[in-house]
Amino acid sequence: MQAIGVLTSGGDAPGMNAAVRAVAKIGAARGVRVVGIDDGYDGLIERRFRELAAPGRVDPAIERISAVGGTVLGSARCARFREPDGRQRAAASLDGMGLVVIGGDGSLTGAHLLAREHGVRFVGIPASIDNDIGCTASALGVDTALNTIVDACDRIGDTASSHRRAFVVEVMGRRSGYLAMAGAVAVGADGVLLPEHGRSEAAVVEAVEKLIRKGFEGGKRRVLVLKAEGVEVPCTRLVRLVEEKLTGVEVRATVLGHLVRGGAPTYHDRMIANRLSLAAVDGLLAGATDEMVAWLPTVRGGTETTDPYVRRFPMEHVLEETRALLEGTSVVTKWRLGLLERVEGVLPL
Ligand code: ADP
Repeated sequence: MQAIGVLTSGGDAPGMNAAVRAVAKIGAARGVRVVGIDDGYDGLIERRFRELAAPGRVDPAIERISAVGGTVLGSARCARFREPDGRQRAAASLDGMGLVVIGGDGSLTGAHLLAREHGVRFVGIPASIDNDIGCTASALGVDTALNTIVDACDRIGDTASSHRRAFVVEVMGRRSGYLAMAGAVAVGADGVLLPEHGRSEAAVVEAVEKLIRKGFEGGKRRVLVLKAEGVEVPCTRLVRLVEEKLTGVEVRATVLGHLVRGGAPTYHDRMIANRLSLAAVDGLLAGATDEMVAWLPTVRGGTETTDPYVRRFPMEHVLEETRALLEGTSVVTKWRLGLLERVEGVLPL
């Protein structure tokens, strides 16, 4: 393999840039060209390429990008790539180059199709603040997003306890409740609402009302509930319905939204970006394809790498595990939910 393309796709995540830089550096050290592809699969179809590295040389413009959130290559949702014709054009653009795809479940699913239909050689690096990708304990961006949630909730806690208020704070996560769950543990929240519990609106309202009542009756100055985006009742509606039942109690809603997506990546996200990139590039050069590199694998199997914390898993296995994770049937989801019950002070609603 003489050249490797690298792209970032789907939802942006802090740590993507550290991975792009690492892929370029490792490629240069291994004597291959590394081509950056702009705007995910859109840029691949249209051959919007830029040279990031050649044997022994890396573009100085990417030297300091590890410190920057988002993705300097750009990301896009690309409808054309979902069609066979779009993937045909994407494969033709690569013209024999290997590919590193840095992205979430959707992006990796697309790359899997590209490998299956056109024999494209690719290795994926999981990147998604939602932590909804199978086989890996963490994806790029999760640690940074959680640190942002912790900071925001600590700030909200200051004002909540000053005024003896309850807050419902909504965090991103699509169908996954991971950020809400892990955030709740870290900030010592009073409760957490997860899509994995599958509750009706009425049940959610009742649970929050009881929790707030109990909290204030027990002498708390603040009651904090984290709500995952995937729990369908909107935050403001939930707060209104709860306030109707609880007279004399002030409840506020805060939706953290895209705040949680941005920001400089933490040490942990930069570190795993570098180590996953090393395994991805070395895997590609050793002939691996249609696989994803996983950080601290959550399942057995896979292929070892030179890094004891990283293994490569076939995409079929990753996608199957991702489905189970989101449907709540994976032992990993059950374990993660059980964590709440084991941590004192955090009760699942
Ligand atoms: P993420 O990678 O963060 O999960 P998306 O789900 O939006 O984000 O996927 C990013 C891109 O990957 C999509 O815009 C599309 O181009 C491609 N993609 C997603 N799912 C598929 C699929 N089932 N088949 C082919 N391409 C897909």
